[in-house]
Amino acid sequence: MLSLSSRDVKFLPGVGPHRAEILEKELGIRSFRDMLYHFPYKYVDRSRIYRVGEIDGSMPYIQLKGQILSFETFGEGRQRRLVAHFSDGTGVADLVWFQGIKFIAGKYKCHEEYIVFGRPTVFGGRINIAHPDIDPADRMSLSSMGLRPYYNTTEKMKRMNFSSSAVEKLMENLFHVIDGETLEETLSPAILASHGLMSLSEALLNVHFPKNPELLRKARYRLKFEELFYIQLNILRYSRERRNRFGGIVFGKIGDKFNTFYSEYLPFSLTGAQKRVIREMRRDMGSGRQMNRLLQGDVGSGKTLVALMAMLIALDNGYQACMMAPTEILASQHYETLCRFLGGMDVRVELLTGSVRGRKREEILEGLVAGEVHILVGTHAVIEDNVVFASLGLAVIDEQHRFGVEQRARLWAKNRILPHVLVMTATPIPRTLAMTLYGDLDVSVIDELPPGRKPVTTVHRFDSMRASMYEFVRGQIRMGRQAYIVYPLIEESEKMDIKNLEDGYKIVCEVFPEYKISKVHGKMKPSEKDAEMRRFAQCDTQIMVATTVIEVGVNVPNASVMVIENAERFGLSQLHQLRGRVGRGADQSYCILMTGYKLSEETRKRIQIMVDTNDGFEIAEADMKLRGPGDIEGTQQSGVAFDLKIADLARDGQLLQYVREVAGKLIDDDPQAVRPENAVVWRQLAEIRKRNVDWSAIS
Ligand code: ADP
Ligand code: MG
Repeated sequence: MLSLSSRDVKFLPGVGPHRAEILEKELGIRSFRDMLYHFPYKYVDRSRIYRVGEIDGSMPYIQLKGQILSFETFGEGRQRRLVAHFSDGTGVADLVWFQGIKFIAGKYKCHEEYIVFGRPTVFGGRINIAHPDIDPADRMSLSSMGLRPYYNTTEKMKRMNFSSSAVEKLMENLFHVIDGETLEETLSPAILASHGLMSLSEALLNVHFPKNPELLRKARYRLKFEELFYIQLNILRYSRERRNRFGGIVFGKIGDKFNTFYSEYLPFSLTGAQKRVIREMRRDMGSGRQMNRLLQGDVGSGKTLVALMAMLIALDNGYQACMMAPTEILASQHYETLCRFLGGMDVRVELLTGSVRGRKREEILEGLVAGEVHILVGTHAVIEDNVVFASLGLAVIDEQHRFGVEQRARLWAKNRILPHVLVMTATPIPRTLAMTLYGDLDVSVIDELPPGRKPVTTVHRFDSMRASMYEFVRGQIRMGRQAYIVYPLIEESEKMDIKNLEDGYKIVCEVFPEYKISKVHGKMKPSEKDAEMRRFAQCDTQIMVATTVIEVGVNVPNASVMVIENAERFGLSQLHQLRGRVGRGADQSYCILMTGYKLSEETRKRIQIMVDTNDGFEIAEADMKLRGPGDIEGTQQSGVAFDLKIADLARDGQLLQYVREVAGKLIDDDPQAVRPENAVVWRQLAEIRKRNVDWSAIS
């Protein structure tokens, strides 16, 4: 018997070469197995039949049983629509089609019993159901009495009448062709038994054609369990393998530099959260295994300082440290911050970016090899091949989502001893996602802002209130503050309604003739950008007109207003990052989100979340729920294909945590992967690794 993955879907009854092509192109379905794992996105209870007479305007999808009395067509060309007047004796509903009219008119007949399924709208006293599903009333199917599955189809498929119910029919055929026997179980008997899981074949049948909600729940649970279990097993195994291969440098002591800094140079006391994170890092770095820690903390929570203290521990143990940032502006800002903090201490800090050349560059490189440079701050330049450290003990990576996995890997490649790694991000990744993405990257959180910060006040304003917004900005500048005005795009794009930066800049210049105005965008040379940022930071200019290049890290505590134009065009995490540019000093700061009047439901929610909360984690969770995890910033760039078929990282966090423990325990019990009772599991893992080649890069 051929395995399901090697049986071409075109040989499934009802498919054939033409539909096979569509299935592959539109849904990525090639084999019988792909088809089986194309799960319904919802189910509708088909045990209840409504009457036309009871329909009101607020109903979800419903089912009616009756006859078509007559057909009518209206309009011409693209306006054309077909209406079937449908009745069950209690009233008339109009079934309406805008596409596939010829097909529909030929397929259904007047005065025959049909079951009609769709979502009714009530308009001027008339009931409409657009593009309903219609089946002969006598048709018996697997789903006719229970919950009926609904499958995602694309616009193109709908135009070809390849609808959800067509997919449903193919699915029935599939279950007739493969009898339960050929579905090989993918979890071990022990796991099935101890977690009360359904068998795979039962689960697959019930996820497509559930007899009742309880069976559906069990089926979905089993499939989610399996999906998350193998993801975790895979990551955990890779990370154990890695851990076995590389030990970690032991930072056994806390010495002079750390202690001197702490008692004599630190200008304020650490927050409780900062202290906790430093303790966590000390424990990691003293443990004999390589630290691999993700440090999450909202903008302004004081991550840089924490990183500095970790670097001092490295120095105290005779090692060097480096800190990498995604842009030159950020790198030089970190450099300045570190120099300021360390001013007077005997620590040599250098800055290495693409624009450091010639003699200066040579000096730095020589200092590194000789071990005389203690801390190197820089951009990607830091991991170029000609940059050689005497003994790199700790690498700090800021804003990880712009710093790809490959770049991290190069860091490993260039050191015989593996440095400890601290990844810092201000884009909080929900815990579930972090676990899935990073496996055994330990996570620390700074969940407390330094004292005295006032939360940024955020408001939403429509374009029509622009004049009063400008007045507000002027008021703040008169009080000695500065303002950012951010635009989404740099050039006139295909959409004419986007206010571009250049136009915006002109307007701002006209509105504020009395002030000096900076302009920064992504297409400027780094040196120009830096110069302009510096002017603003030194308060030579009062307003900074910019694109999102200022999104990360820039620190100008005197700036108290962040105006975001076309806020509807930004994602939540971007808005939050931008807002984080203000509220860095002791003054009350403001974020003004400007939008047009027409906003989609989702956009409205996004803006509302920004107005309601300053909490980055809440925002990240909300973002994940609104957009789904695949869209979270950082997941695309990290090269992980999130191809979850049934589990939902936004909702199944608890289950994820649970299966992670199950997977961890299995590895602990069977580290060599040889125990016969786990054979099924290891075989399945090998299969999965074959299917997704890229996992090794992640943890
Ligand atoms: P992040 O990198 O997390 O956005 P920073 O490290 O840039 O935050 O810190 C933001 C500002 O807060 C900096 O000016 C820093 O000096 C200051 N800061 C950090 N920790 C404290 C603290 N414990 N008390 C007071 N100010 C602090
Ligand atoms: Mg920072």
